[in-house]
Amino acid sequence: MRLVVRPALWAVSCVVAAIIGGACAPAHVNRPITPADYPHTRPELTRYQETSHYSDVQDFLDSLRKLGAPLTFGSIGKTTEGRNIPFVIAARPRVATPSEARRLGRPIVYVQGNIHAGEVEGKDALLALIRDLTFSPKPNALDSIVLIAVPIYNADGNERFASQSVNRTEQNGPEQVGTRANAQSLDLNRDYVKAEAPETRASLAMFNAWDPDVFVDLHTTDGSFHGYALTYSPSLSPAAVFGGVYTRDSLLPLLRDRMRTRRGFEVFDYGNFVSDERGLVADSSVREAWATYDSRPRFGTNYVGIRGRIAILSEAYSHDSLARRIASTYAFVSEILSLIAEKANAVKSLSARADSLPLAWGRSPDSVQLVAVRSELIATPRLLDVLKEDIEKTADSSRTQPGVPRGERRTGRVHAVRMPVYDRFTSTLDRLPPAAYVIAPQDTAAVTLLRLHGIHVERSDSAWLARGESFTIDSIITSPRVFQGHHEVRLNGTWQRGLQAVPPRSFIVSTAQPRGALIVYLLEPESDDGLTTWNFFDQDIRKGGRYPVTRIFDLSRRGRTVNRRSSAAASPLQNN
Ligand SMILES: [Zn+2]
Repeated sequence: MRLVVRPALWAVSCVVAAIIGGACAPAHVNRPITPADYPHTRPELTRYQETSHYSDVQDFLDSLRKLGAPLTFGSIGKTTEGRNIPFVIAARPRVATPSEARRLGRPIVYVQGNIHAGEVEGKDALLALIRDLTFSPKPNALDSIVLIAVPIYNADGNERFASQSVNRTEQNGPEQVGTRANAQSLDLNRDYVKAEAPETRASLAMFNAWDPDVFVDLHTTDGSFHGYALTYSPSLSPAAVFGGVYTRDSLLPLLRDRMRTRRGFEVFDYGNFVSDERGLVADSSVREAWATYDSRPRFGTNYVGIRGRIAILSEAYSHDSLARRIASTYAFVSEILSLIAEKANAVKSLSARADSLPLAWGRSPDSVQLVAVRSELIATPRLLDVLKEDIEKTADSSRTQPGVPRGERRTGRVHAVRMPVYDRFTSTLDRLPPAAYVIAPQDTAAVTLLRLHGIHVERSDSAWLARGESFTIDSIITSPRVFQGHHEVRLNGTWQRGLQAVPPRSFIVSTAQPRGALIVYLLEPESDDGLTTWNFFDQDIRKGGRYPVTRIFDLSRRGRTVNRRSSAAASPLQNN
């Protein structure tokens, strides 16, 4: 595709812009753009010694705009310190709004860099990739997908530059990098359920507006010396019935193969050696194994899976140089975009199925699907070869490479070791979705949060009686440690069936909506990462008391509000 901008058209748009009070587009280059015209990222300009500052990202995007790149530029919202978080939409033809994107009928792929701002290569790789795909005259993924790129998500953290030895102790440069946390000292990749950071709220608003089919989150590893340029993970939540399994079993094996054969990079499922970090492997007789991280939706890719979408975590190898990390991340994202372009129909139908299933819960009893609200690492791992690098002791305590402990040296000798691989979780508690949940009138903070998640919540006009269940709290386990400003709460108790008195002004959350599984995950009292976990109901809960959210089996007796389900809808659930 040639990027020749006709001056007459720009003249017209300048007039329109002047009339509506907007800014006029700058004069564009009136010839095909070649690599000689390209703007360069800060790593490219510094021989990969430095990463982009916020102003570098802005300047780079401005340069693309001035070259007439057919991109849409915007901000997903503001950071804690008031910086705009830029996004770029890349597609051929150009797309400016969610409805335009939907009309194209293509998969929408949302790629995010810099959530942990010390982990820099996602940001720089993404900028280079937008440039190269946009200006390439050859057909590419942008002809078949819509790409939403958010290169510098944690912009405030990015600007807290300090030595890598302080901000990223296990990373091989660059020397100056930003922090993991945002300006509120929150880890944005633990915030996807409670959404306390403005950055998280902005990204949830983007998810709700654009409804991406695929989410890719770009990181750098910590820890183990393995033999992979990059490790990856699907959504690990067993509640991610659509995107999780398809990504794990269909997309990632193909991506692994293509990264090896087309790009020359060995990649593998994300994990650490148990000898470095025991993690969630409970069996103490396991002396060496490879184990993944966590399944809870506080992590972005796990969260997006429960929204019924494909999610891929990308973790470049922290002990590789910045140049190699950018190259591997660039290759991985390129291959993801190409693969999603190839599988466009399958990906779109997966999203449609994920959305329509909860709608069917109410119509067809057979369709009711259990939602896993607690899970654990599988107990029976597979035995696989994992690449491991030999690390040697040195004679003294000098540092041999940034990020390598003093007194140790990398050898570059990588060999395959057969060991148990723990790469998935299994459900330990499943719950059947009720027709609806009822939330007590005073719990407005919980309702505000549900709405941030794109969940539709109604308010009941009058008092009514509904068949359903209430939960009596047998025990409240409050974590003694403060985590992200919270003492996490876990409840145990019992459900009892009976007529539930629904007071006026109660909030009603029907599960018959696209994010039905997410509703169950957030509102079930025993969920391992729901609203209870994050203290939303602390004022309402006491041992022996009733949980402030009840389950309703059908909405047919509902007062003056609209009857949204037939009484047959919840027949398997209403035999009490
Ligand atoms: Zn990270």
